[in-house]
Amino acid sequence: MPSIRAPATKKATTLTVAVKCRPLTEKERGRDIVRVNNNKEVVILDPDLSKDYLDRIQNRTKERRYAFDHAFPPESRNSDVYERSISSTISGVVHGLNATVFAYGSTGSGKTYTMVGTQGDPGLMVLSLHTIFNFIKNDKSSDEFEVTCSYLEVYNEVIYDLLEKSSGHLELREDPEQGIIVAGLRCIKVNSADKILELLNVGNSRRKTDSTDANETSSRSHAVLEITVLRKQKKKYRSQVIRGKLALVDLAGSERASETNSGGQKLRDGANINRSLLALANCINALGKQHKKGLAYVPYRNSKLTRILKVGLSGNSQTVMIATISPADNQYHHTINTLKYADRAKEIKTHIQKNIGTVDTHVSDYQRMIDSLQTEVSQLKTQLAEKESQLNTKPTERHVDDELSWLNILSQETSENVQERINLQKAIFELEETNLRNRTELQHLDDGIAKQQGMTNTELQYEMAMRDQVIHNQRETQRNLWNLVMGLGLDEKQMLKLAAKQGITIEDWTTVSSQQKMGQERSTGPGPGPNGYKEMAHTYCREEHHSSYYFTSNGSPSTYMRLSSRSSENWVGHRRSSFGSPGGTEDRYNGSNRGPCGCNQSDQVATFVNCKHMVLQPNVSNVSEIGPS
Ligand code: ADP
Ligand code: MG
Repeated sequence: MPSIRAPATKKATTLTVAVKCRPLTEKERGRDIVRVNNNKEVVILDPDLSKDYLDRIQNRTKERRYAFDHAFPPESRNSDVYERSISSTISGVVHGLNATVFAYGSTGSGKTYTMVGTQGDPGLMVLSLHTIFNFIKNDKSSDEFEVTCSYLEVYNEVIYDLLEKSSGHLELREDPEQGIIVAGLRCIKVNSADKILELLNVGNSRRKTDSTDANETSSRSHAVLEITVLRKQKKKYRSQVIRGKLALVDLAGSERASETNSGGQKLRDGANINRSLLALANCINALGKQHKKGLAYVPYRNSKLTRILKVGLSGNSQTVMIATISPADNQYHHTINTLKYADRAKEIKTHIQKNIGTVDTHVSDYQRMIDSLQTEVSQLKTQLAEKESQLNTKPTERHVDDELSWLNILSQETSENVQERINLQKAIFELEETNLRNRTELQHLDDGIAKQQGMTNTELQYEMAMRDQVIHNQRETQRNLWNLVMGLGLDEKQMLKLAAKQGITIEDWTTVSSQQKMGQERSTGPGPGPNGYKEMAHTYCREEHHSSYYFTSNGSPSTYMRLSSRSSENWVGHRRSSFGSPGGTEDRYNGSNRGPCGCNQSDQVATFVNCKHMVLQPNVSNVSEIGPS
């Protein structure tokens, strides 16, 4: 037997529970109280139509509702049950998984019909076998399959082999590798589903049945059909073995012994049947609690049935429970009991894992392998020799030559490519260097321009200062000259003459006597203020520079002159027309406050910004700078 090693991973799964309701039989004249909704919900109606008055008004109904993984109404066929609830589980068996399907229900609820079925409506056992053999037939791998089956019954807590004509009592043993096994149980190798069906029919005919009130041929025993699929995956030195087990269990009726209306031997049967079923119910109870509250004692050992089903209930098996129920109203209590257990079974968890093992190869197998390897080696040697001889022929040489020249061209192209890349790199470096140089030069030029601009400004300022100095000096000289002229004591005529000699025209000559006239004018229009000439000096200024110099006289000037020079120099004084214009000279400037150049004298300093006229005031003893206007 191959040794099976434990796989690394286990997958936890819950027990799948399906409920199947059989149709009402012709014998039954009862009322149909079972309703199936949405293929999941089962509703058991209150069987009592004539309820007591009190129950009615207090709304004490016996109606019950349950939900399961699958629920099948009476018109469903066995194939429907198979497709929806166990087909996927069965296909797992071929891949090394264990599966258990058991039918649970009261006598006459349709367990045997569901598991075995009829010719026209084959049961789950038959359909499962068909699936397994179909899979093997369609498998494309080189794997070898071996299907074996055993069929036993547990009757009165004794195990019988249904495949043996007259089977003795069989015992249960615990195997460290395979778990619980029935010692001496016959395992038959089968090659087709038909063969198993034959065996099933023979076995079923050997089952202990009896007619009870519940059923004409009520099975008084629990029948377990076990199918083992062994799959050998062929490899060179070790072959992997996958083993899947499918247990299909047709249980005896779950009703109480007294309900079967039997006595004597029958009652004893009923009690033992119930012992197994009671143990099964207790196991289901405990396993359900275990899921909810943690660890709980599960009484597997209380009956042979539970020991056999141990793996299916909580171990390495994907388990499906088919709860069968009758729709008849007189079966209400059985139906409710069955559904209660089925509901509890929903909580049970199992942990499935693949049964994978390896088979140690026999010495003769090694010999065979060595032989085949030697054959392979000699074949390869021959092939190699052929290839070598082909290489030695001329066309091949030419081919090699072609390849060599092609390789040469390729290497040359590669080296050229590399050289070109190097050159490009160099060019890039040079360009970068030039770029850097240009940038530095540009920076220098920028700096130079900035410096130059700074220099130009300074020079201009210096020149202006120099010019101011020159102006000042000239004015000083003029004043001295004027003083000198005045000191000579010349009269107007002499003065005019002297001036004409020097090319100077004295346009106006005003004496102190004209002051009175000026006083009058002051009141009529813009002119010198109460401060007289001082104010005049404020009004008339030279305009050469933003900083203006105002001429003021400390003493009252006896003469105020207006001079004009023919020279290109613009040192020509001018004054308001009302001044020194004895003969109504104001008309000369159109009676306005404008100078000869048209500038507005009354606008004071600001007006003279762009004109180059000047007032020369005699007897100016000092020149004071009073700052910019
Ligand atoms: P159990 O094995 O639970 O004691 P059986 O399978 O023997 O019950 O069924 C009891 C009776 O009901 C049988 O006569 C069977 O033919 C009938 N029966 C059960 N299920 C169906 C069904 N789905 N369709 C028709 N008849 C059924
Ligand atoms: Mg039966």
